[in-house]
Amino acid sequence: MVAIKLTNLTKRYRDTEVIAPLNLTLPDQQITALIGPSGSGKSTLLNMLAGLTQPTSGQISFDQQVVFDSQQNVNVSPANRGLAMVFQDFALWPHMTVAQNVAFALETKLSSAELTERVAWALDQVGLNDLRDRYPRELSGGQQQRVALARAIAVKPKLILFDEALSALDPQLRASLQGEISNLIHDNHLTAVFVTHDRQEALRIGDHVVLIHDGAVAQSGRATELYQHP
Ligand code: ADP
Ligand code: ADP
Repeated sequence: MVAIKLTNLTKRYRDTEVIAPLNLTLPDQQITALIGPSGSGKSTLLNMLAGLTQPTSGQISFDQQVVFDSQQNVNVSPANRGLAMVFQDFALWPHMTVAQNVAFALETKLSSAELTERVAWALDQVGLNDLRDRYPRELSGGQQQRVALARAIAVKPKLILFDEALSALDPQLRASLQGEISNLIHDNHLTAVFVTHDRQEALRIGDHVVLIHDGAVAQSGRATELYQHP
């Protein structure tokens, strides 16, 4: 099954086309690493998937549901696309505990008993239940990123978008979080798009790798294939 389908997707800022007409399908229940040099259009593409940047034209669908279509005037809001995001700077609330940060996006949707259970489940997934009452400043960078990961899965998304999520961490921590993220995505049958400028990281974490150059797809394939033919 195909999770994400982009059809003739473009993005123009004034006269500059930063995403050329893009046609791409990304596999369901896998991690797609999106790699390319700075300025190639990775963030623009990720933000268009999220609904944070409006494409100039084209169509985006998730599991056959159209979330954006310029001709039919469809533009599903970010909150209704069934996705969560993880950012490089963690984006945690400093005045909230770990548990409160994870609960933040859930409060209007769940009863308090469900909320407690969901937060405990999400923190368990990243091994942080013992730190639930700490504040972000009391945690290491790796622990803060695990909180952000717990907050993302807590909403039970179908899709998680990672924007240079590990780029601020040291190499050893990155390697271990690459493994943890990969297990989390696969164990929960989620689909992920992981933006990175680091080729090694893309090949390690991606089941599928898409190489972007000047707003166009230069290569797309299984990580194992691209690894053998770099
Ligand atoms: P990457 O994430 O690969 O570094 P971006 O998606 O951030 O690339 O940028 C792609 C291109 O779009 C770059 O040339 C950048 O300068 C341009 N761009 C991004 N955002 C804007 C904007 N708001 N206005 C004008 N140009 C932009
Ligand atoms: P650079 O060439 O930029 O110094 P490295 O070649 O050391 O970087 O690392 C490139 C990628 O490999 C990084 O994404 C890093 O997270 C990962 N990495 C580094 N060390 C290890 C390791 N021991 N095990 C797994 N991955 C690692």
